[in-house]
Amino acid sequence: MKVIDKIVEMKQFIRSVKEKGQSLGFVPTMGYLHEGHRVLIKEAKKHNDVVAVSVFVNPLQFNQSSDLEQYPRDFVRDENILTNDGVDVVFYPSVDEMYPNELSIEMNVVKRTNVLCGSSRPGHFEGVVTVLTKLFNIVQPDQVYFGSKDAQQVAVVDALIHDLNFDIRLNPVSTVREKDGLALSSRNVNLTTSERTEAPEIFQSLLKGQEYILNNPNWERHQVIEIIKNYLDEHTTGKVDYVDCLSFPNLLDDIDKNHDIIIAVAIYYQKARLIDNLILNHNGFIKYGSE
Ligand code: AMP
Repeated sequence: MKVIDKIVEMKQFIRSVKEKGQSLGFVPTMGYLHEGHRVLIKEAKKHNDVVAVSVFVNPLQFNQSSDLEQYPRDFVRDENILTNDGVDVVFYPSVDEMYPNELSIEMNVVKRTNVLCGSSRPGHFEGVVTVLTKLFNIVQPDQVYFGSKDAQQVAVVDALIHDLNFDIRLNPVSTVREKDGLALSSRNVNLTTSERTEAPEIFQSLLKGQEYILNNPNWERHQVIEIIKNYLDEHTTGKVDYVDCLSFPNLLDDIDKNHDIIIAVAIYYQKARLIDNLILNHNGFIKYGSE
């Protein structure tokens, strides 16, 4: 596996891939890799000749410096995982390489971000689309793979690709979970022992919401939210950031029951903010969110 930390070299590598007429799959990550990332890589390998992964903790998408500092990093470990998984190239640039100067252009995401993580993390998705625009231009992938665990990110990347005419196919991949239901996340290492024990209740709360939808054809959005909130109040000590039920991928509260919806939760623990969601089809069955 090639490890490349310079943009010029990465572009050279990509040029050689394109010259050979090979298809290119790309998985952007912030590293500290786990099974969730590995499933994205596996999908990318299945459908492309060459697979590129980026490992870059993007400071632009962190709105709290403590969160950026606490974000776990271990590139040696990541490199081993990526080598074993048969990745062809990892792009591992420094912050200076990606942002050598103060940016002259700011991106502003005006739809799909006034809810969920967008409202509690101002500037987050602007940081995400900025780094992804740069990465997409550097890597020029045919296909990209994103986890539905970050469903709002999937919705925003979908808008980015369409609005800015990137010739890229977006593939959402279902959330990978621990046996007890906790969604895998690099942030889980920052949970205390007791927080880790109760964290699977987040997934259980979503299943309660889904159960209500499945059993009530005339289900109401506010009831879904209330059921999940009540469950979380009873079963976790974490502080609820949000619970919501919206159309997907438009993320509107005016729900059309003939289309997909998302039920989503974010919880603050002492040193980690965890998110989870289920994307349901019009019948209430899980489309993305669990294997
Ligand atoms: P991150 O390194 O957290 O930025 O995540 C990189 C990619 O992995 C994103 O597309 C995430 O949605 C995806 N991802 C993170 N956790 C999981 C998971 N548990 N299951 C599936 N994909 C995930």
